[in-house]
Amino acid sequence: MRLSDEVTSIKGIGEKNAALLKKLDIETVGDLLYHIPKDYARMPYPVTVREAVKASEPGFTAVCGVVTKAPVLKRFGSRSVVSFEIRDDLGDALNVSYFNMPYIKNAIKKGDRRIFAGRISAKGNRFSLNQPKLYREAEYSSLAGTLIPVYAKTKGMSDQVLAKYNLMALKGLSRTVNDTGLVIDHLPGELKEKNSLSDLLDALWVLHCPAASDNVRKALDRISYDELLFFMLTVSSSDEGREKTEFIIPPSKVSDSLIKKLPYKLTASQTKAIGQIREDMQSGMSLNRLLQGDVGSGKTIVALLAMLDAVDAGYQTALMAPTEVLAVQHYKDITELTQKNDLPFKSALLTGSVTAKQKKEILSQLESGEINVLIGTHALIEDNVKFKNIALVITDEQHRFGVKQREKIRDKGKGGIHTLVMSATPIPRSLAIALYGQLDITEMTDMPVSRKKIKNCVVDQSWRPSAYKFINEQIKEGRQAYVICPMAQPGVMEELENVVDYAGMLREQMPEGTRIEYLHGKLRPKAKNEIMDRFARGETDILVSTTVIEVGVNVPNATVILIENAERFGLATLHQIRGRVGRSDMQSYCVFMESDNGGKKNPRLEILNGSDNGFEIAKKDLELRGPGDITGLVQSGEFSFRFADIYRDSSLLLKAAEDAKKLLKDDPGLSKPEHRLLREKLSAYREDVYIEIL
Ligand code: ADP
Ligand code: MG
Repeated sequence: MRLSDEVTSIKGIGEKNAALLKKLDIETVGDLLYHIPKDYARMPYPVTVREAVKASEPGFTAVCGVVTKAPVLKRFGSRSVVSFEIRDDLGDALNVSYFNMPYIKNAIKKGDRRIFAGRISAKGNRFSLNQPKLYREAEYSSLAGTLIPVYAKTKGMSDQVLAKYNLMALKGLSRTVNDTGLVIDHLPGELKEKNSLSDLLDALWVLHCPAASDNVRKALDRISYDELLFFMLTVSSSDEGREKTEFIIPPSKVSDSLIKKLPYKLTASQTKAIGQIREDMQSGMSLNRLLQGDVGSGKTIVALLAMLDAVDAGYQTALMAPTEVLAVQHYKDITELTQKNDLPFKSALLTGSVTAKQKKEILSQLESGEINVLIGTHALIEDNVKFKNIALVITDEQHRFGVKQREKIRDKGKGGIHTLVMSATPIPRSLAIALYGQLDITEMTDMPVSRKKIKNCVVDQSWRPSAYKFINEQIKEGRQAYVICPMAQPGVMEELENVVDYAGMLREQMPEGTRIEYLHGKLRPKAKNEIMDRFARGETDILVSTTVIEVGVNVPNATVILIENAERFGLATLHQIRGRVGRSDMQSYCVFMESDNGGKKNPRLEILNGSDNGFEIAKKDLELRGPGDITGLVQSGEFSFRFADIYRDSSLLLKAAEDAKKLLKDDPGLSKPEHRLLREKLSAYREDVYIEIL
């Protein structure tokens, strides 16, 4: 068996299961093995019935007991229930039931002594154990205490099934490795040694089939390092960096006069930022700068001023945003500003949902130079988009794009094009330097003064009615609210809220006439725009959304944000989401609602509660998670890494940056025989990242 084999080459995976796996983007054995658990549970030690029932949160448990009477099978049409009673050594009884598993009736009989491992549920004060797995005592004693993988899964797939498939894949792969000498590890031995990283196959074994004592964190480090190394190899081999340019762009009178006409005074950071950008753009060397500033620090106007300088000097300019929602918003803001202030912008919007006819017209006007400002999504980097004389490209919320995208848009112009990238990701300077390769960095440290601090609270589910009441009061005062859920649609990870069901539920809970809509990334682009528009115009009271609204959306009239299953998000993401409110001088509120967790408080959320400083939040988050913490699999979600996390894995990241540099210095094309596998996997990685983003 090889990583590239289709999953159907694993015994037991037929068409039907292959189709289920495809929903999880698993098509090959490699995809399956890289679908690593999102968490681990521990196989419980057996307890008495009393202890099992008493547990504060009825959950996964194991009870040792003897079957008191022969199991009874009842049928209801096509469905069936097998039930029987067990008694533990203290004489306490517990009911056990199995749904739609009629064969259990014959698998167990009166007098059998077994370990029953499953979930306890309570109806009033009657408890029962549902669908428990059966073990003999001797067999279970070697299992108790071991880690069981918990995977992201889809309906019809269980953790057990995914673990079984992975086990078979690992066995098959290991056999091939032993029999044929197949090499699957692409990492040169010296790098593994230097960074004390696991062998790839060992790491995969540990991640999917961990024994009680295995170091899962170390195995995950291996996978994260690989991803970071690929990223760093891509960054380091790009030719970004300042270069000689013929585009000389002096500060313009129009942008100076716009600064005076703005309804607010620029902050010191904004003034510094535009100053540095202008200095670069008129220097004869290209601008190549990262503008980093926390959510709400006012990066957009800085970008617009630079664009105005470029247009006034007779050049074209482009602004690329990671989501259509954000691109449309930038387009509207620019159009409004242009009309109000009679700016020389002739702008167009290019996204995936522009019609073929409109697109043709835009493309021809771009080539002729009639349009001087192009705003859009990744659609901007398609090959048929050609400019007459583009001199400045700006990428908003840069961390959402790959290095490849950055390169591709630079290629739209002649050499020496000016590049500004903007990001709200709070990261220490050393990491920024590694992540952004050859870019200069401007940090914006102060916020517009008129802002009131957002009021936060972390609450449990019992607070939900009060939250709704509060939202309703804000709506009555003319304000708007966001509710954020982790999932888009029902069907995947059902323990989490999804926007579709949630919006339906909310419509029943809120007073009649409350205007509620939902938004998620899987809707058609046109529908997304219309929903966002209605919300921006104040025609919707509550927008129930996934994190698609996380990046950059600006609706100042929204003053409350309620985040469901809050502990499921990374802190940096939560900080970004929270930044959707508090965008005016009105008091704003953020409610972090925790999932039902038997009353356990999540200390991570308290960090957000206590700070509105992105850098501080990221740092504290890292401290709190600490190394070697299995539950630390949760990621901050920055930079769209699949396994790695820039905060948790910051030291791995710096190592990978250094290793990538050295690799490319010693063997620029990675053409040495010992780098063959690395080169192949790297090019697959690049393809992947590229496709994912488009
Ligand atoms: P971000 O840095 O998150 O992209 P934006 O550029 O979207 O922030 O700015 C957020 C809001 O702050 C916008 O409504 C913008 O008009 C406003 N704003 C920008 N600069 C200032 C300022 N100096 N004083 C007051 N409000 C400002
Ligand atoms: Mg922004």
